[in-house]
Amino acid sequence: MHLSCRILLLFAVLIGVAACDRGPRDHHQTLLVFGTLLDIKAYTDQPAEFDAAVRDLERTFQAMHREWHAWKGDGELVRLNRMLAQGDPMTVTPELADLLQQAKRHAELSDHLFNPAIGRLIALWGFHSDEPPGGPPPDAKKIASLIDETPSMSQLLFEENRIHSTNPAVSLDLGAFAKGYALNLAIRRLQAFGIANAIVNAGGDLCVSGHHGDRPWTIGIRHPLGEGVIASVDVVDGECVLTSGNYERYREYESIRYAHIIDPRTGYPVEHVASATVISKDGGLADAAATALSVAGPAQWQRIAKQMGLAQVMLVDDNGDVHLSPDMRERIEFQQPIGQVIVSPGLDAGS
Ligand code: AMP
Ligand code: MG
Repeated sequence: MHLSCRILLLFAVLIGVAACDRGPRDHHQTLLVFGTLLDIKAYTDQPAEFDAAVRDLERTFQAMHREWHAWKGDGELVRLNRMLAQGDPMTVTPELADLLQQAKRHAELSDHLFNPAIGRLIALWGFHSDEPPGGPPPDAKKIASLIDETPSMSQLLFEENRIHSTNPAVSLDLGAFAKGYALNLAIRRLQAFGIANAIVNAGGDLCVSGHHGDRPWTIGIRHPLGEGVIASVDVVDGECVLTSGNYERYREYESIRYAHIIDPRTGYPVEHVASATVISKDGGLADAAATALSVAGPAQWQRIAKQMGLAQVMLVDDNGDVHLSPDMRERIEFQQPIGQVIVSPGLDAGS
C-alpha cells in the first residue's frame, strides 16, 4: 500500500476510534453488596457519571444492608424487632416506614403467603444466616408453637413513622422483598446521575432502564431444575424481573432438600414449585409476589397474582411443567426443551 494511503487509513482509524469514544457503549461494574454480587451495566457515553453513580450506589446499598438486615449487627431493623418483641413502639426513618408499609400492603394482597412477619420461623429453620445449616429439620412442636402465635403484617400499626405491633410475636425479615425494592431504587439513582440506559442485576434478579442502543435489553431466566437459561425475554424501560427459586438456598438432610421459602400457613418449606418469576415495574412488588406465588403453587397462584395486580407471571413446577399468564406467554422465548406449557386464562393485563 502506498505510504499516503497508509497514513490516510491510520487517520481514518483514529477518527473512527475518537468517534466511537464519543458514542455510547457498554460500561460495566460489579459490587459486593447485600451479601451478593450486584452487576451494573450501562449503555452510555458518560463514563465519569456512571462511575460516580456506582460509588454512590455502593454507599447506599451498604447502608441499606446495615439498617435493613434483620439479624446482623445493630441496625434499624434489629432494633425495631427488639422493641416489637418487648411490646414497645419505635419511631423509624421515613425510608424504613415506607418499606414496611409497602411490605404490609403486599402481604395483605397475597393473603399473607408473603409474610415478612414470620422472622422467628425463618430463624428456626436457619434461613436467617448466610449459610443455611445442615442437620435435621426443626422440632415439629416448635414449628407448631410459632404458627400458633400467628404473626402477621396486619398487626403492624403505623402512626406516620412510629410503628408498633399488637402481637409481640411479629419478627420482621425482609429477605423476600428488600432486594427488589433496592433494585428499583438503584435504577432511579442511576437516572439521577444522568444514566438513562442501564441494567442492575443481583444474581438474576434485575431492573432495567431505557434500552441497549436500538434494541431492548434481553435477559435470561435461569432454569430452576437444569442447567443454563430456561427462557429469555426482552425487558423494556423501568421493568424488573424477580425470581424466587427453591434451588437458590436450602438445607439438606438425609437427601431431602428443605427450601428457604416457608409456607406461613404450615411453617414448612414449600414443595411443588421450582421457581416463580414475576415481571413488574415495581421491583419490591415483584420480589414479594415471586415469594408469595412460590408458596401459592400451581393450584393457587392465579388467584394471588390477580389480587396483587400482576399480569406477567411464570411458574415452573417440580415436574418441569411451566405455568404462564397470557401476557408472559406473549413475550417469553424458551431456550431449551421444557415440560408441558399451561397458559392460564383470566389474568388481566395491567401491571
Ligand atoms: P425470595 O428469594 O425473595 O423468595 O426470599 C426468600 C427469603 O425470604 C428467605 O430466605 C427468608 O429469609 C424469607 N422468607 C421465606 N419464606 C417467606 C415468606 N413466606 N414470606 C416472606 N418472607 C419469607
Ligand atoms: Mg421475593
